[in-house]
Amino acid sequence: MFEADVQNVTQQAATGAVPAGNRVREVISEAHQRYAEHTDGQVADYIPILAHADPNWYGISLVDVSGKSFSVGDSQIEFSIQSISKAFIFALVCQELGHEVMHQRIGVNNTGLPFNSVMAMELNDGSPMNSMVNAGALATSALIPGRTTAEQWENIRIGLSRFAGRSLELDGEVYQSEMKTNFRNKAIARLLESYARIDIDPLEVVDIYTRQCSLRVTSTDLAVMGATLADGGVNPLTGEQVVGSEVARDTLALLASCGLYERSGEWLFEIGLPAKSGVSGGMVAIAPGKGALGLYSPPLDSAGNSVRSQRACAYLSRALGLNLFASSAYQSAKG
Ligand code: GLU
Repeated sequence: MFEADVQNVTQQAATGAVPAGNRVREVISEAHQRYAEHTDGQVADYIPILAHADPNWYGISLVDVSGKSFSVGDSQIEFSIQSISKAFIFALVCQELGHEVMHQRIGVNNTGLPFNSVMAMELNDGSPMNSMVNAGALATSALIPGRTTAEQWENIRIGLSRFAGRSLELDGEVYQSEMKTNFRNKAIARLLESYARIDIDPLEVVDIYTRQCSLRVTSTDLAVMGATLADGGVNPLTGEQVVGSEVARDTLALLASCGLYERSGEWLFEIGLPAKSGVSGGMVAIAPGKGALGLYSPPLDSAGNSVRSQRACAYLSRALGLNLFASSAYQSAKG
C-alpha cells in the first residue's frame, strides 16, 4: 500500500550509517513536500481535546547516533506523546526487571487486535499480551519503581526526559480531558486486577498511565528518544546511558512486532523499521545503529496511526537506506 507510493524511489540498501548531512536535509525536505498537501485521515477525537489539533500540522525530524539533528516543517510544535510513551516505559521497566520477567509477566506477542482490546486478554487467560497495547502498557507502568504512585509518576517523567535529553512536562489539559473519558482503560485495569496481573490500585495505574501519555514532546524530541534506542541506549545528545544496550535491543524487537498495533505486520513489510505511533499523530521509527525519525501529523488511519507520518517514513526508509531488510548482492558490490 505505502510501497506503491514510493515505487519510483531507488531502494538504497541498509548499510552502515545515514547518508551525509546535505543528502539527509534534501531527502527529509522532499518527504515533507511530497505529502504536505495530502488530506487523508481523521484527527482523533475520542480524547476530546485532541480534536483541536490542526490537520495541517506536519513535522519531520531525524537525529543520528552522532547527535546530528535535522528537521523540517512543524518540528517545534508540542503535542502529547500518547502511546509512543509505551515504548520507553517498556525500556525503563525492562532495565529494572530484565528480559525474562518482561517476557513471562507481560508478554511479547502481537494481539492482532486494536490497541484497547479487552478481548485479547480474555482469549489469552488474562495475559496483558505485550507492553504496546493498553492492557500490557498499564501492567508495565504498574511495575515502574516507586513506593507511592506519586513517586512512580515522577520516575516516569524523569525516565522519559532522560530519553529526550530535556525535561518533559505534563500537558494538564490533555490529562484532564483523557481522565474524563477513559472508561475503557479503567475497565481494562479492573480486568487486570481480576486476573491478578497488577499489584497496585487499578485506578491509580490508570492515573499514572494517563499522565505518561500526556507528556508534551516535539517531533525532534521523538527523534532523540528513538536515536537513544538506536545507539545502544546512550542518548546521542547528552551522552547519558539511559538503558543498557540489551534493553535497547529488546525494545526494538518488540516495536518491530507490536509497534503499530494490528497493522504491525503490514508496516514491517512496507517500511522495514521498528516504530511506534500514538493517537495524537506522533510517530518514531528507529534504524538501529544509525538514528531515528520523529514525525508529527494529526490525521490518523482507522488503526490510529498518522497517515502522513507513515507515508513519509515509507519514503525516507527507502531513500535513506533505512529498511532493515534491504540488502544488495555481495558480488555486485565487489564488481
Ligand atoms: N492515551 C491513549 C489511550 O490509552 C493512548 C492511545 C494511543 O496513542 O494509541 O487511549
